[in-house]
Amino acid sequence: MSSPIMSRRTFVSGVGATAAVMTFARPTFAQESTAPTVVATFSILADWIQRVAGDVLTVVNLVPAGGDAHTFDPSPEQVASIADADIIFQIGLEFETWLDRMIESSGTTAERITVSDGVSVLAFEESGDDHDHEEDHDHDAEATAETDHDDHDDHDDHDENEHNHGSQDPHIWGDVQNAIIAVKNIIGTLSTIDPANAAAYGTNGMAYITELEELDASIRTDTGTIPEDRRKLVTTHDTFGYYAHAYDFEIVGTALGSLSTEGGDPSAQEIAELVNEVKDEGVPVIFAENVTNPDLMQSIADEAGVELGPTLFTDALGDADSEGSTYVDMMTYNTRVFVEALA
Ligand SMILES: [Zn+2]
Repeated sequence: MSSPIMSRRTFVSGVGATAAVMTFARPTFAQESTAPTVVATFSILADWIQRVAGDVLTVVNLVPAGGDAHTFDPSPEQVASIADADIIFQIGLEFETWLDRMIESSGTTAERITVSDGVSVLAFEESGDDHDHEEDHDHDAEATAETDHDDHDDHDDHDENEHNHGSQDPHIWGDVQNAIIAVKNIIGTLSTIDPANAAAYGTNGMAYITELEELDASIRTDTGTIPEDRRKLVTTHDTFGYYAHAYDFEIVGTALGSLSTEGGDPSAQEIAELVNEVKDEGVPVIFAENVTNPDLMQSIADEAGVELGPTLFTDALGDADSEGSTYVDMMTYNTRVFVEALA
């Protein structure tokens, strides 16, 4: 085994010959044997990965555009398609409830990468979540009253634990800054597993992040034109938590009252409660989502005497010819719909 120093000397002394051979050999080598087989669990994630990968590789996507990742049931062909994967990218946070079983059935030894690592995860807020708010108030009061550093740190730990109780919200893509964290995770993973193409992943990824920063800024500017008391969202399921948190909206309620679309239609009483909230809060427009049947939202809109707005792209991209065929497009579209409907 040669030491790193030895091999560097060897390389330097033979640089002319080595470079000539490398130039000759590289094109076939890079295209045929280094690009890993990469799987994404759903369309939004596939778009992020493809933007980083560029033309180095083509991402295999599982839940297609318009599909509902909460209720996905993979076909035998899809199970087989991940058998030889090198990496499977997932959101995590229990978004892909079907993935454990799918991986097991396929026999794949792929590395499973959670792109939400590093994101500040939101907990699902039950209606009547006063408990958490009171905890926060106590914490603030004590933090200002006491200047002792150790004690303050203890409280931070405590809050962290509180956050991990209950359901964690997986819809991280609602906040563009979270998409940037995910894209950085994707760049790091692809560059590590495929160092021969690391430069391409870095260049593509950084260009995409610049685009995402611009998207984030334009969403902020555009939503800023909506008066604060009109920034109220009512949708089918609780998918806009991060969007609301980042861009200062209030989730008045959702038809399913859940972070998932699983579990069937709401009861007549639950619908009546939501209708009352829509009326009480003066919500002018409510929205259906591209991954669910719009009929439920239409009937709630009818009962509340409000408009049903254009269908939003929520947990999936739209088809190639739709206005939500990429992540940037879907976020731009949703924001434009909010501005036109609520401002
Ligand atoms: Zn969802």
